[in-house]
Amino acid sequence: MDNKKRYKLMTWILLLAVVMTVLAPLSVTQAAGVGDVLGALAAPTAPTSEGGGILNTIFSFLFDRILGPILNIFGGGSTTTAPPPVKLPPTPPSGGPVIDSGVLRGKVIVVDPGHGGTNPGAVSNGTRESDNNLAVSLKLRDRLRQAGAKVVMTRETDRNVATAGSSLGQELQARVDIAGRNNADIFVSIHSNSNPDPSIAGAMTFFPSGKSSKLALEVQSGIIRETSAVNKGVQPATFYVLRNTAMPSILVEMGFVTNAAEAAKLQNDAYRNRIAQGIFTGIVKYFQAN
Ligand SMILES: [Zn+2]
Repeated sequence: MDNKKRYKLMTWILLLAVVMTVLAPLSVTQAAGVGDVLGALAAPTAPTSEGGGILNTIFSFLFDRILGPILNIFGGGSTTTAPPPVKLPPTPPSGGPVIDSGVLRGKVIVVDPGHGGTNPGAVSNGTRESDNNLAVSLKLRDRLRQAGAKVVMTRETDRNVATAGSSLGQELQARVDIAGRNNADIFVSIHSNSNPDPSIAGAMTFFPSGKSSKLALEVQSGIIRETSAVNKGVQPATFYVLRNTAMPSILVEMGFVTNAAEAAKLQNDAYRNRIAQGIFTGIVKYFQAN
């Protein structure tokens, strides 16, 4: 056999090996269309967009299907044993990206569901602000506690925080006092918005005038990322609970109960989960950076 013939024979053997390797697993289904073959060819390879085109694909394939297994055999077969099961991190309820919330361990976070008891807050479209605030706050509480934070709630039921008959100022001061007494690292007040114009919708986050907007910015972008709500941004404000808390504080306006569509969302459990998750990730990112 001369060199030319030997070369031809080797080429045919190689091609036959490729075809057999591709078709063998596919023949089981008896449905080896062109797409299946191409899929089988491309599957074990690195993305072809990295360059090399079809040649790269073929060489990668040859290595993965023929050379790789051979090398494994000679290498003692250690890589043929199944790898230990990978423990996946818990999937957040929203299905959003998993973030490392370890930074929250030991942090004291006061969560303040706005209004409650004799003061329902904004009432519109068959929903009360105080109920939505509480529902999301409880979900936020659970996420924060799961991450190891020490969460103090100003209320966990539909009630006033200050003693019965207190003024609005005393009611708000009672919430501020809880934050101060517990030496809170941050204070997070949860509210729903209202406007005479029912077309207005969206989420916004307030921070105390003259103080840092960092926490507000992280929480606001967390909410928008999770909910895709209209982004009404962050703004400085002089609300009582922002003005009188010593630690970094924010007041989240999750959405407008006066907007029919947003009022419906605010009462929806899945949407409430998304808001809570957005606030949670914002808080995590704030502590990661500060
Ligand atoms: Zn409110």
